[in-house]
Amino acid sequence: MSAKIIHAFICRNDNFAVLIHDPETGLTAAIDAPDGAAIAGELDRLGWRLSHLLITHHHEDHIAGVAPLRARFACEVWGHAADRHRLPGLDREVQDGEVFGLLNEEVHVIATPGHTSGQIAYYFPGLGAVFAADCLFSLGCGRIFEGTARQMWQALDRLRKLPGNTALYCGHEYTQANARFALSVEPGNQALQKRAREVDALRAKGEFTLPAVMADECAANPFLRPESPEIRAHFGLEHASDAEVFAALRQGKDHFR
Ligand code: ZN
Ligand code: FE
Repeated sequence: MSAKIIHAFICRNDNFAVLIHDPETGLTAAIDAPDGAAIAGELDRLGWRLSHLLITHHHEDHIAGVAPLRARFACEVWGHAADRHRLPGLDREVQDGEVFGLLNEEVHVIATPGHTSGQIAYYFPGLGAVFAADCLFSLGCGRIFEGTARQMWQALDRLRKLPGNTALYCGHEYTQANARFALSVEPGNQALQKRAREVDALRAKGEFTLPAVMADECAANPFLRPESPEIRAHFGLEHASDAEVFAALRQGKDHFR
């Protein structure tokens, strides 16, 4: 049984900040640093000290707070070796497939290129949680800025193979908007209808929709469902590869209003 506490909150507009605290050792890790002041304020409120900062990718809304947090807490900053040229100075460079110990937990590094070429996810099997940043969103996925649809699909395919009870933490609260597109390509999906209702109810109460459960995402998120006959028929791609269906989905979402 794990006594760790995962604390997520929204900062900037729709960015998730996540803190993982181990009461036993007193260590606290953050996944990404969208806003240094907001994260430091939350740490102060909770009486926690930041010991580790795990970066997923180089976009400003994920690293803006690295310098101030490092200055304040002298925390150890981790990030993908391949992106060292565009990340704030790294104390620890990690690679796809590496497994590290942190807070008495195993941390698995999963390369998820597509949104950016160097994006990585952090998977904590002992916590049953994955931090997927801007690769996989609830009911959606990140835009492809660097890399190909095939790469992005391969990344999502790796994430969807994690255990079904894995808690999915994402970089942004985009679920409600994502649901509108998802329903447009797979309106007959009952798991999606149910998730969309649940999301509307949460948002109406001012609550966020994460973490999601990976098995629910696999049932409802069109970007994890290129095998779906309904989605394939929507695009007229009955005989295409999964990667081709994924590419059509991503393009459709890029132009969806
Ligand atoms: Zn991003
Ligand atoms: Fe982002």
